[in-house]
Amino acid sequence: MSELKTFKCPNCDGRLEFDTESQQLKCPYCDGKFDPAVFDEGQDYVVNNEKWEDGQYLVYSCKSCGGTIMADEDTAADSCPYCGNPIVVKGNVSGDFKPKKIIPFKYDKEKAKEEFKKHLHGKILLPKAFRSEATFDEIKGIYVPFWVFDGTANAQMWYNATRRHFWREGDYDVTETEFYKLYRSGRVSFKSVPVNASAKMDSTLVESVEPFDYKEAKDFNDNYFAGFYADRYSKDVNASRKLANDRIVNSTESMFASTTTNFDTCTPAGSDIRVYNGKQEYVMYPMWLLNVKYKDKNYAFAMNGETGKFIGDLPIDEMKYRFIMLGIFLIVTLVLTVIQFFAMRG
Ligand SMILES: [Zn+2]
Ligand SMILES: [Zn+2]
Repeated sequence: MSELKTFKCPNCDGRLEFDTESQQLKCPYCDGKFDPAVFDEGQDYVVNNEKWEDGQYLVYSCKSCGGTIMADEDTAADSCPYCGNPIVVKGNVSGDFKPKKIIPFKYDKEKAKEEFKKHLHGKILLPKAFRSEATFDEIKGIYVPFWVFDGTANAQMWYNATRRHFWREGDYDVTETEFYKLYRSGRVSFKSVPVNASAKMDSTLVESVEPFDYKEAKDFNDNYFAGFYADRYSKDVNASRKLANDRIVNSTESMFASTTTNFDTCTPAGSDIRVYNGKQEYVMYPMWLLNVKYKDKNYAFAMNGETGKFIGDLPIDEMKYRFIMLGIFLIVTLVLTVIQFFAMRG
């Protein structure tokens, strides 16, 4: 049996939503503000007779308007499609599914729209019509479930490197090559390495808006969900740990490689990297998803709800693209011709 939680203002029964500016639950009717870390609406939990429909959706009835809410198995927070009241599915945020921490949204929907506009700015290859015709299909603030892992890498790495010197002796060009065997060893500690725990979210998209600052995370309370969407984790912690350890190994390798740059060539010759896992936690991180429709195609954009980092691929105007490439080709040809001209004179 699962419960639905709704968010009602204790003063006026208005609908409470999380306000990014004040970081409080806010009532738009009476301006009442409540601290999400401690707010407790007491009796307002509703036990619903949820049931499976077509084996696909769970069906709830909305406490506020009686409307039917369909949610899938993973849904942790949503809103009623009829009255807009935010809801939390208690069964998906308690017990094994209770997150330890949450980074509350710092930026709202308006900021996401603003960043989208900035993202278009100065993109000369963007089709002109995109700016006027593209429409927001959906803008969604979603809490993405993550597993975060601490880990320490004990690493040894070997490289073959060379350094070359050139000089002239009489009529001869002399090249001297020095060969080095490099050895690096050390211990690198990693804190809160994140792995996307939702099967519904595209990991590439999620990773491209990282990093999130774990230090900003609060103790989890489902009040922070008010007005947003959330899914519970659907990816196994063990599989995720393996991904985190891969990230730790890759980062260690590039950190070590960055200490070998004062050679002319350097190639890795071997490594021994052991990762020791520390603490692991289940957390919720905020992300804005923007679906934009243009000429029957969907374009997905995302903004980090904590830092405002914005990413997404824009369509390219093929004609402009070819025109610019042709322009570059002409310039290169011209430059080569000029070089040739001077070479012939010289
Ligand atoms: Zn109120
Ligand atoms: Zn409703």
